[in-house]
Amino acid sequence: MANSDERVMDLAIIGGGPAGLFAAFYAGLREMDCTIFDSLPELGGQLAALYPEKYIHDVAGFPSVRARELVDRCVQQAMRFEPGVRLEETVRHLDREGDLWRLETNKGLYRARTVIIAAGLGAFSPRRLPVDGSEQWEGKGLYYGVGNLESFRGQRVVIVGGGDSAVDWALHLLDVAESVTLVHRRDGFRAHEESVNQLRESRAVMKLFYEVRSIQGDDRIKSITIFHNKTGEEETLPADAVVASIGYLSSLGPIADWGLEFEGKQIKVNSRLETNLPGVFACGDICTYPGKIKLIACAFGEAPIAVSHAKLHIDPKARLQPAHSSEGVQ
Ligand SMILES: Cc1cc2nc3c(=O)[nH]c(=O)nc-3n(C[C@H](O)[C@H](O)[C@H](O)COP(=O)(O)OP(=O)(O)OC[C@H]3O[C@@H](n4cnc5c(N)ncnc54)[C@H](O)[C@@H]3O)c2cc1C
Repeated sequence: MANSDERVMDLAIIGGGPAGLFAAFYAGLREMDCTIFDSLPELGGQLAALYPEKYIHDVAGFPSVRARELVDRCVQQAMRFEPGVRLEETVRHLDREGDLWRLETNKGLYRARTVIIAAGLGAFSPRRLPVDGSEQWEGKGLYYGVGNLESFRGQRVVIVGGGDSAVDWALHLLDVAESVTLVHRRDGFRAHEESVNQLRESRAVMKLFYEVRSIQGDDRIKSITIFHNKTGEEETLPADAVVASIGYLSSLGPIADWGLEFEGKQIKVNSRLETNLPGVFACGDICTYPGKIKLIACAFGEAPIAVSHAKLHIDPKARLQPAHSSEGVQ
């Protein structure tokens, strides 16, 4: 498999939200090499996927911070010790292999001494465009995210959606695309007002109260037909690329089949954040214990506990209580 890695890592972190990111930083501090896996194309979990422009007021040290900025800071901190990062890799299977854990993703096979499941609400995947046969256009001009802006240079791009991602991508694409058209089924936006105003004043074309009827082309997309959802009027727009940004679905999916003990949709852990599987820990929204609260602040608190006990699992002689961070960070 393309991304497989023969090395055995100390720690595999499933999920790149606040819990997974802080766990990666802490693993570095405790001299454990680790890799973060996330099914999304970017790090940040719910903050990046669901509410990048929302302000958060209950993270210690930040009286008020926009979710996107908090993610940027968490990523910066997490990258300090250069963990591996595997994006768009959903961990599908977790199996025991001797003393190790074997992780199978949609792209590769990996082995780890310990695992932290920081999977939040489960793996996120983009909501597919509700158009007959839309899957056939994936890889031929239909995208569910904008990875590399340059690949859209000179193209006529149609973006579908009215949330932060749709509006932000439209704004970014204006720098490289020949044309940018935003198709949105309402005239109200979930996106940040300032960004919407910026888009309204730009050269982008906005098609409000429109939805997608069909996509046409051959080996690539050539055009898209949209309809006005009040009048039924149809219009066909020439297009080289369609970027659909109409939300995410989350699914516990494969995690439910790994032999973990659950309470509802949460993995049961003890005070060391150990699951019922040896060397497998859980932290953040995905875990539960008596008194559990689902908050970013709690995810940040749980991550060092899970990492420190993972450290002890690998090396029982290691100290549980970490040294002060000033001793581990140069
Ligand atoms: C609208 C909204 C507003 C909120 N506002 C606040 C707030 O103001 N303050 C606050 O403290 N909390 C808030 N929260 C809650 C907060 O977002 C969560 O507590 C926090 O995101 C939990 O972090 P996490 O790292 O545990 O999980 P998540 O952020 O959910 O990240 C988990 C990641 O794991 C990935 N993943 C899951 N399964 C797999 C798999 N099998 N393979 C690979 N990747 C996988 C997912 O794709 C995801 O990226 C809010 C939540 C929502 C929805």
